[in-house]
This record gives sequence, C-alpha cells and structure tokens, in this order.
Amino acid sequence: MAEKQGHTNRSDTWKPATALVHGGTTRSQFGEMSEAMYLTSGYAYDTAEQAEARFKGDLEGFVYSRYSNPTVDMFERRMCALEGADAARGTASGMSAVTAAMLSHLKAGDHVVAGRVLFGSCLYVVETLLPKFGVESTLVDGRDLSAWEAAFRPNTKAVFFETPTNPTLELVDIEAVCKLARDAGALSFIDNVFATPMLQRPMELGADVVVYSATKHIDGQGRCLGGVVLGSTDYIEDTLHDFYKHTGPSMSPFNAWVMLKGLETLPVRVERSSSSAARIADFLANNPKVARVYYPGRKDHPQHDLAKKQMATGGPLVAFEIDGGKDAAFRFMNGLDIFKITNNLGDAKSLVTHPATTTHQRLGPEGRAAIGIGDGSLRLSIGLEDPDDLLADIDGALSA
Ligand SMILES: *Cc1c(COP(=O)(O)O)cnc(C)c1O
Repeated sequence: MAEKQGHTNRSDTWKPATALVHGGTTRSQFGEMSEAMYLTSGYAYDTAEQAEARFKGDLEGFVYSRYSNPTVDMFERRMCALEGADAARGTASGMSAVTAAMLSHLKAGDHVVAGRVLFGSCLYVVETLLPKFGVESTLVDGRDLSAWEAAFRPNTKAVFFETPTNPTLELVDIEAVCKLARDAGALSFIDNVFATPMLQRPMELGADVVVYSATKHIDGQGRCLGGVVLGSTDYIEDTLHDFYKHTGPSMSPFNAWVMLKGLETLPVRVERSSSSAARIADFLANNPKVARVYYPGRKDHPQHDLAKKQMATGGPLVAFEIDGGKDAAFRFMNGLDIFKITNNLGDAKSLVTHPATTTHQRLGPEGRAAIGIGDGSLRLSIGLEDPDDLLADIDGALSA
C-alpha cells in the first residue's frame, strides 16, 4: 500500500518506558535527535513515474498528509509499540478517533451494545448519531455481565465502553465483555482514556480496537487536541483506512509532535499522578465531610477485585461525593487554590470538575441519578504537583 504500511516494527523486547522514548523514531539525513516536525500537506515526486507508482500502490511513500505524514507516522508507531497493536491512525481529537473507529465498521441495519456511563460526546455518537444512519444501540449497566449478554442481537456488530467510567469510576470487565463480543461475531471498541495505556492493556484482555483521546494523559500538559485508533492490520488497513483517508479526521503534524514528546514522559507522569491520587483518595475517605469516595485502587470500591485484575494501579482520577449537595460542592471548588476548575483532565495541573453542572448537565437530574452522579459529586484529575501541597489544598477547601 503506497500511503501507509501496516505498523509492525514494534520491538517486542522493549519495556513500555523504553518504547515510549525510542519507539517509532525515524531520522532524516540530518540525524536530528529530537523527532522532526514535518509541517507539510503534500510531497514532491522525483518523476512522473514515481507519482504514478505511489498512487497505484506499487511504491511505498507519502502522498498527502490527510492520509499520512512522517511525524504523525512516528506517533502512530510509538503508540503501537506501547499498546501492542499492529497498526494505528492518529486523529484530530479523541472524538474523531471514536467516530471514525465506529462509523468505518458499522452500516445501516447493525446494532451496537454500549456501556451506559460514557463520556458525553461518546454517548451522543452511540445514542443519537449512529441511529440517524440506521445503526441501533442498546445501553447497558456496564458492571452487569448478564445485562451485556442479554443485549446482544443477531445483528450486533460492535460493543463499546470505557473503564473506569467518567465520572463515577465504575468498571467494566474487559476480558469478559470482549469474549462475549467475540463469541457473537462483534468487534470490541474500548475507550482507554481514564486508565491510560500505562495502567490497563485492553488488547491483552481481548479488545479488538482501542481508542484514546491523546488530549488527556498522552499530551499530559493541556496543550493540544489529538486522538488515536489502534487495532489489527486487518481492521486498520481494510476497515478504517479508506474512511480515514476520504473523510479527513487526520492529526496535525504539529499536534503529533507534541504527543510524541508527551509519550516520552508518560510513564513517570502517570506513576506520579496515580500515587498522589491514591493518597488523596485515602485522605478524602477519612474526612467526615465526604460521604463517599470512588477510587478503583481502594478496597471499598465495589469492584476492587476487578480493578486489581485489569488495572496496574487505581489511576490518576478520584471521584467523591461531598455532604451538602451543590452548595457544598461549589464552596469546596471555590476554596481550592492549586486545583483549577475545569472540565478537562489528564493535565500536569490538578483539576476539579463538578459533573452535574458541566459535563453531565445535559442528562438532567434523573439521568444523572441513574448513573450515580449527585449534586455533591466531584471529580479530581490529579496532576504533578507535590502531593503534600495537594492534600493541604483539599484540606483547606473542605474546611472552608
Ligand atoms: C476527553 C475524552 C474523549 C474525547 O476526547 P477529545 O480529545 O476531547 O475529543 C473521549 N472519551 C473520554 C473518556 C474522554 O475523557
């Protein structure tokens, strides 16, 4: 294939931290140490014959940056090395990754089963967008295996879920649901943003396709939007490639470069954020103003055993319910100094979100109650600051 070869050059002997520094690197004739940023939309051919051969697919090489670009290519290869995937496509955002991954695979008459607690825009894709094109969807309580099983129909062609979920940090049993999908002849699509590729490896548990919003921990410093779809060579080349090439959810080479640099430090950042998050979760659980803490790494998480099975640690996000509803939640947020109020996550800066009035406002009170989001629910994305300072900030805001 002229535009893009399947990415199969991962080094199986490298551990993730090594792959994240060196994986996928190609160097120009100048031998630059840092990955080159190829800000180009097109490519020149030496001869008319070469142009013809590239278009026919007889000669490997770049054709147009909507299909592939050397910097984006390095990002894709590095992600493949990390994830253990055959091939990948970088995308402009996490949502373009999710949408392209699903739409390229599905057609009118198909059916999708999805976890009901999804990132808001993912819920829109499954609940509103897909049905407009004749793809029906069923949302299930992702924790309940029998609900997944019961939702399958003869025309079920995909399952889609995130785990842990946003913002209640419920878990879905990746191995069990992927097996149900495989037995039913459906592809499994996992949104692995919350656990990050460092802490959870869906492909080793049977997932067919893994998607990321690289905007979050992969960038890790709140700079650029980006996404990536990872899968088998068959899926990426035969299912996704033409959709990607002709509809253009492509990643900017600049953003790919930022993400490549982000990947180099991903292991140390995720380790630091997760260890701080575990301390913060314990601190919150022992505070009388906190009604409940949701953290997969704690023994009191209802699915702690599953967390131990499929996650390396509890992860960089903590959710909790403050006594006193919205007023108390707002007082807490306004009393914070280091934590910034935002709807984003996965930044070097620690962040706080009130889902009921922002990310999950659209669901209405009943919709939120059904998935466990109350007026006192808060979500923390733990950054890279000194954990002692973060604890002091939380302590001060809880006393406010
Ligand atoms: C942020 C996010 C997305 C969407 O990613 P964008 O880069 O904002 O488009 C999808 N899923 C989850 C779980 C997310 O956190």
